[in-house]
Amino acid sequence: MSTGSGSIFCPCSRSENEAVVNDRQHSLEDKNRPGAADRISGATGSTVLKDEPLSRHTSFGIGGPADLYIRPASEKDLAVVLGIIRQYGMGLMVIGRGTNILVGDGGFRGAVVDLRGACRRLEHQGEKVIAGAGVTVSELLDYCLSQELGGLEFMAGIPGSVGGAVRVNAGAWGSAVGDRIEAVRGYDPAGRGVDMERSELQFSYRQARFPDHLIITEVRLSLQPEKAGAIAGKMDDYRRRRRHQPIDQKSAGSVFKNPSSAPAGRLIEAAGCKGLRVDGAQVSPQHANFIINLGEATAAAVRELIDQVRLKVREDSGVELEMEIICVGEE
Ligand SMILES: Cc1cc2nc3c(=O)[nH]c(=O)nc-3n(C[C@H](O)[C@H](O)[C@H](O)COP(=O)(O)OP(=O)(O)OC[C@H]3O[C@@H](n4cnc5c(N)ncnc54)[C@H](O)[C@@H]3O)c2cc1C
Repeated sequence: MSTGSGSIFCPCSRSENEAVVNDRQHSLEDKNRPGAADRISGATGSTVLKDEPLSRHTSFGIGGPADLYIRPASEKDLAVVLGIIRQYGMGLMVIGRGTNILVGDGGFRGAVVDLRGACRRLEHQGEKVIAGAGVTVSELLDYCLSQELGGLEFMAGIPGSVGGAVRVNAGAWGSAVGDRIEAVRGYDPAGRGVDMERSELQFSYRQARFPDHLIITEVRLSLQPEKAGAIAGKMDDYRRRRRHQPIDQKSAGSVFKNPSSAPAGRLIEAAGCKGLRVDGAQVSPQHANFIINLGEATAAAVRELIDQVRLKVREDSGVELEMEIICVGEE
């Protein structure tokens, strides 16, 4: 299957991370799409929504409609859903909690699959924690606290799902989830099970070497015993450090990766971009590496603002900022 680059509207560095498949050659006529929806509803207990605005499923509150938005009820359902999507030749994107993506105003042609109902496993075997991709980071951290297993406290305050965090190797304060990952399990788009060991994944700053279009279903993490009080104390500390971030506003977190020379926020501020606006999109006056949706921002406005910031930083410091957020869907 090809990546269908036509469906990805911005050449960002994380695009290779996307669980996006869009095989134009086999794309269906729009009139056949209800057939796929009916088949999925009939064969599984999945929730299937047609023309679902993705703005409802992203922390930016931005994004046009997905042809189909599917929430399988179990991992068994997920396997059936993937089979039907493949038979109909539809594009496929997996979404976590949509906290790291900018979806285009044109939405997504194909099926967006949300694993929050399907991959819910959360258990430990000694110091190893198995977490389903649909579990939230916050649920995972609560579980680790309850089991007195430490090592992931730095993730306190990172929104999103385990699947999304693993896919983008989410991290903060010099640590990343990949530091703790032993193995990842998932499906390829053909519905075949895939098991990967840590040595194959080559985690680095906000990325890992996953096979194209892998759909992550669960992960095994290696933690260590620690007193609940100590874990809670560290998590509080990490959460407090986020008080300078616009966490109550609509954003997708840091827009740019930190270059080796200086934090992206500092470079953006030095270039005079704090508070810069394009329509309803604004560089946060609180933290320059966040773009916030003031209300009715479009993806196009965010894109335009990103271009302006990049240009000003290039002119000011000579640094080429690389995207951290992932752009998907149609312009
Ligand atoms: C206020 C705020 C603060 C943030 N702070 C941080 C931070 O400190 N550090 C950090 O790293 N990030 C941060 N983020 C960004 C984001 O929360 C994380 O990157 C998070 O891990 C993304 O998870 P998600 O479930 O929302 O993924 P999504 O945004 O839904 O998806 C991200 C990518 O992963 C893919 N994906 C999702 N699930 C799967 C799956 N099961 N299998 C395969 N691919 C999948 C998607 O296709 C997409 O390409 C922040 C965001 C916000 C809004």
